[in-house]
Amino acid sequence: MKCARCLEDTAAKVADAPDGSGAWEIYLCSRCNYSWRTTEEEEVINPEKRDPYFTLDGVDMDDLMVLVPVPPLKK
Ligand SMILES: [Zn+2]
Repeated sequence: MKCARCLEDTAAKVADAPDGSGAWEIYLCSRCNYSWRTTEEEEVINPEKRDPYFTLDGVDMDDLMVLVPVPPLKK
């Protein structure tokens, strides 16, 4: 499935509504780690309606994997 954020075909369903109703599904992208539930707003889950500012189309994920350092504990 096409990821709503990076637009690659790297998303897959990872969960269904636990009551078996089919009310919602959750998808996760293995490339950019974006996840979404099918009941979220179209502006969140539909690539054609998402704000392009939040799209990672063509972005090298290795360039984004900078971990934010954890500050030392306060004493
Ligand atoms: Zn993605």
